[in-house]
Amino acid sequence: MNKEIKPLKFSGKWDFDPAPESVDHISLKDQYGLFINGKFENPQTSNYFPSVNPANEEHLSMIAEAGEKDINAAVSAARKAFDGPWSKMSAKERGKYIFRIARLIQEKSRELAVIETLDGGKPIRESRDVDVPIAAAHFFYYAGWTDKLNYAFPNRDPKPVGVAGQVIPWNFPLMMAAWKIAPALATGNTVVLKPAETTSLTALKLAEIIQEADLPNGVVNIITGAGATGAGIVNHQDIDKIAFTGSTGVGKIIMKAIAGSNKKSTMELGGKAANIIFEDAPLDQAVEGVINGIYFNQGHVCCAGSRLFVQESVYDVVLRKLKDRIQSLILGNPLDKNTDIGAINSKEQLGTINKYLKIGQQEGADMFQLECPIPKKGFWCPPTLFTNVSQSHVIAKEEIFGPVLAIQTFRTIDEVITKANNTPFGLSAGVWTDKGSKIFNLTSQMRAGVVWANTYNKFDPTSPFGGYKESGHGREGGLHGLTPYLNF
Ligand code: NAD
Repeated sequence: MNKEIKPLKFSGKWDFDPAPESVDHISLKDQYGLFINGKFENPQTSNYFPSVNPANEEHLSMIAEAGEKDINAAVSAARKAFDGPWSKMSAKERGKYIFRIARLIQEKSRELAVIETLDGGKPIRESRDVDVPIAAAHFFYYAGWTDKLNYAFPNRDPKPVGVAGQVIPWNFPLMMAAWKIAPALATGNTVVLKPAETTSLTALKLAEIIQEADLPNGVVNIITGAGATGAGIVNHQDIDKIAFTGSTGVGKIIMKAIAGSNKKSTMELGGKAANIIFEDAPLDQAVEGVINGIYFNQGHVCCAGSRLFVQESVYDVVLRKLKDRIQSLILGNPLDKNTDIGAINSKEQLGTINKYLKIGQQEGADMFQLECPIPKKGFWCPPTLFTNVSQSHVIAKEEIFGPVLAIQTFRTIDEVITKANNTPFGLSAGVWTDKGSKIFNLTSQMRAGVVWANTYNKFDPTSPFGGYKESGHGREGGLHGLTPYLNF
């Protein structure tokens, strides 16, 4: 059973000439203050921390650390804007500002993509073709809803919640900021947003865009810092709604902190998605989908298909194809347009991933990795897969948040549904099969917020996104994404 077929021996992969994206056109300040009430202010803490390029450990800029007084100033600016110009403005006018932000993101897309790649380590192909266009699309989409809320919720008289506190992670910095800010503004709220400490730069560039769009002062405030700053926003008395995207561990801390308060919440948390290949699937397409599902963005994706279930009859051939494809991936300079695998976002995250690689081997699973030269500087993990994995293995249970795939087999559809649902998470899943009936059978029984069929990791502002179980509650995107920002 499951006798492994050796991967084809490649004589060498295609050698492309270097094709790095230019950095000449970007503008980064040496130091960024806090964006409060329409202006960049020095932090009252006087503290700054560095932002570093994870691909070469080079210093990029200094970022302000917001303390209690700064958080108070940001929340009070947001409250004043909410009680003042933003509430008094017609919905149609509000929509024009959101539309303007979308257009400015498009205009500056090249600069934003390069900065996203420098700051986060993801390949330029992804920041250019995924992160930035999706961020702009969210602003365009929600600009359209602004003056149609009464049609979206007929006879329900929707009203904005007030001041939204928004805390986001480092894996899609600009895109997550857009997912949070666009629906909040469309529904008439004001915002205090905190990006992750390792990737603040595109949120700060977005603050510049917001200034350029002439949004009334205080409608969007962007303050930077680490967990303590996030906790300060969460615990602030004058915040009406918390929108959090991040780990399940921090999500639990936040839910405890706001329990008993009047704050509304949406939690977009961790995942351990199952990607399922049936024997009747188009296997080459499925393998490409698996590669995209787990190695895309170095596995720094909440909905990454980190557990692969392959029907036993096609296991050998799928494994061979997967290994061959891994060997053809290009790891290296994230700014190079040919790069498939960029840098791990931080030294800490690389340490976490390496800890799981060790655990996987100690548990008796077999590890296979892309053989390639690893750059001397920066944080790198080659695409990795584990076979001989069982349901009880730590690498099959816990979110690793890196380019690490755990492969298991199954015989029947009931078996794979049970195995796939056997997790505390429920964010996403994928199914590969030729049969529509199988897709509907499976999707109706999967406890996952998103199930992709014969594709993976596709995002669209019109589609709601969110989790079951410990992957969180509430939805972002689409019509559903308006509800958490409204009182009825
Ligand atoms: P994290 O939970 O460590 O941090 C997320 C944000 O919370 C950061 O801005 C951080 O500074 C802040 N924070 C930390 N401690 C806090 C506290 N006590 N109170 C308030 N804020 C606090 O997560 P991360 O490592 O930045 O991101 C990775 C995690 O995010 C993964 O688990 C991933 O699955 C999840 N994620 C989920 C989604 C989704 O849509 N469900 C999307 C992207 C990422």
